[in-house]
Amino acid sequence: MTRAFYIGRFQPYHNGHQYVLEQIAEHCNEIVIGVGSAQLSHEPTNPFTAGERVLMITRSLERQKARFYVIPIEDIKRNALWAAHVRSMTPPFDLVYSSNPLVVRLFSEEGTSVRSPAMYERHTHSGTEIRRRMLKDENWHDLVPDAVVQVIREIDGVERLRQISRNDCEVDS
Ligand code: ATP
Ligand code: MG
Repeated sequence: MTRAFYIGRFQPYHNGHQYVLEQIAEHCNEIVIGVGSAQLSHEPTNPFTAGERVLMITRSLERQKARFYVIPIEDIKRNALWAAHVRSMTPPFDLVYSSNPLVVRLFSEEGTSVRSPAMYERHTHSGTEIRRRMLKDENWHDLVPDAVVQVIREIDGVERLRQISRNDCEVDS
């Protein structure tokens, strides 16, 4: 049995993440998903809480055969200790999937095998592009699983993003 690890901020979780996780699930029966920068929320680049991101991910992966463990992981500002920090919060894993150069480097130095999955339509499938579309009232629904649309509707997420992205000069007396 192989238990693999995959990490992101998932602000929000999108079809690129879903595609990669479905690929990983073909090779591994258990996947640990780290929800990074777990302490951040209510910021233009990090609008959603760790709990909201856990909901998006678990609901989107409900029908998969593999077992998923979704674990919030707060930042520690010491890269040299980061892999050990992750390990202190997660079930044991043998393999890391990541295309993020820093994540690849830190786990390789620790002696863990790392595989880098190919990007899925990265130009449109990125958190940055989805948040931009939410702010501009453009179509973002096609870039995320239906479960994510549902969660963001439940928490009034687009309105939250718009409100926290305004500055106080725009508020009239
Ligand atoms: P942001 O633009 O907010 O940084 P993001 O789309 O890069 O969002 P992250 O949560 O930062 O999403 O990414 C988590 C992991 O998913 C990263 O390792 C990233 O390389 C990977 N990833 C992001 N977009 C895609 C995609 N379209 N296809 C495959 N992997 C992706
Ligand atoms: Mg990113």
